[in-house]
Amino acid sequence: MIDIEIGSNLKMTETQKMVFDSAMVFAIQEIKPYFMDWDEKQFFPKKLFKDAGSLGFMGMLIPVEYGGSGMGYHEYVAMIEAISSIDPSIGLSLAAHNSLSLNHIYMFGNEYQRNKWLPKMCSGEWIGAWGLTEQNTGSDAKNMDTVAKKDGDNWIINGTKNFITHGKSCDIAVIIARNGSKGKSHEMTAFVIEKGTEGFSSGKVENKLGMRASETAEMVFDNCIVPDTNRLGNIGDGFIQSMKILDGGRISIAALSLGIAQGAFKAALKYSKEREQFGKPIINFQGISFKLAEMATEIEAAKLLTKKASDMKNEGKNVTSQGAMAKLFASEMCVRVSNEAVQIHGGYGYIKDFPVEKFYRDSKLCTIGEGTSEIQKIVISRDL
Ligand SMILES: Cc1cc2nc3c(=O)[nH]c(=O)nc-3n(C[C@H](O)[C@H](O)[C@H](O)COP(=O)(O)OP(=O)(O)OC[C@H]3O[C@@H](n4cnc5c(N)ncnc54)[C@H](O)[C@@H]3O)c2cc1C
Repeated sequence: MIDIEIGSNLKMTETQKMVFDSAMVFAIQEIKPYFMDWDEKQFFPKKLFKDAGSLGFMGMLIPVEYGGSGMGYHEYVAMIEAISSIDPSIGLSLAAHNSLSLNHIYMFGNEYQRNKWLPKMCSGEWIGAWGLTEQNTGSDAKNMDTVAKKDGDNWIINGTKNFITHGKSCDIAVIIARNGSKGKSHEMTAFVIEKGTEGFSSGKVENKLGMRASETAEMVFDNCIVPDTNRLGNIGDGFIQSMKILDGGRISIAALSLGIAQGAFKAALKYSKEREQFGKPIINFQGISFKLAEMATEIEAAKLLTKKASDMKNEGKNVTSQGAMAKLFASEMCVRVSNEAVQIHGGYGYIKDFPVEKFYRDSKLCTIGEGTSEIQKIVISRDL
């Protein structure tokens, strides 16, 4: 029998439960047997995303008319959470595809652009990448160097994007480039670039601490010619669009964090009941049971923050602050919970035979990607 109960007692609707259960079955059948091998070899299982597409996981938030699943944020969170509780790398890739590249085209693309690209991405035929970060500008994305110069009906793009999820294997990318002076938030523009476009190639593939089955690579633009019809929204709106995309994206990192924390918690709870020292299961020691109590409480708190941000997003409200709070708390929480899960396993937590070793390595990305914890605090404090 497949065990799908993890973590919290928060009630799900029938649809959310259905999404959660099917994501869990997918993760257990298609990911669990292979994830340690993928991690070891740092293998990005691109084919898996076609299968994820057939289940609707590659277009969760996109209306049915564009080939999507037409779901809301709660269902999306449930899907990311379930898959990340088995393999966070795959959760990260699904989050990057859905929340960043796909959502950028949906939110800011015109009808022609939506019809042209969304169906292929929702079916999983194409996987997307989203390029904002550069070598010298991560948190300070506004100061990017990549430039886009207008040339008749085309744009010529030059520059390199760094740390991009699916930077090498993507079939399509949304990138932000500067069309004016450096550092000006209204002088950046977003473009869609298809794989195979002349002047678009990939650079270094990063060798990472965790999230190793989620590809992270440079995207290089060398006199890359992109038609003006590939521009998303108005000239000069690219940076502002990106900030809006990240508002929603942060909810997906909160969901990713919840999946990791629940996967680690579940493993630690099981182990603490099985492992005996001094003649009794270690859960009978208050030093261990208090850790588990704190872990469960923190997971529940993160669920509530994520649920509130998802409610607000579904209602079309501004989630800049609430998304940042959910991401900040859930990501820091998942690092703490994974750390304690390793501690509860003792020496066995430090070896690769138990899943907590990988959760611990994977968890750290959540406090960095889509804005570090420090940047989330800047976002939240600005709004106070
Ligand atoms: C696995 C992975 C996948 C990623 N995927 C993508 C992707 O798909 N697309 C994309 O565009 N990017 C992606 N990124 C990039 C990611 O968003 C950046 O790494 C992140 O925003 C931080 O930027 P940085 O690494 O340049 O760190 P820096 O900005 O150099 O920060 C270094 C440190 O300084 C702190 N800091 C910076 N500014 C301030 C400040 N004003 N106040 C206080 N502290 C500050 C930071 O919090 C951090 O602790 C990915 C990164 C990783 C590791």
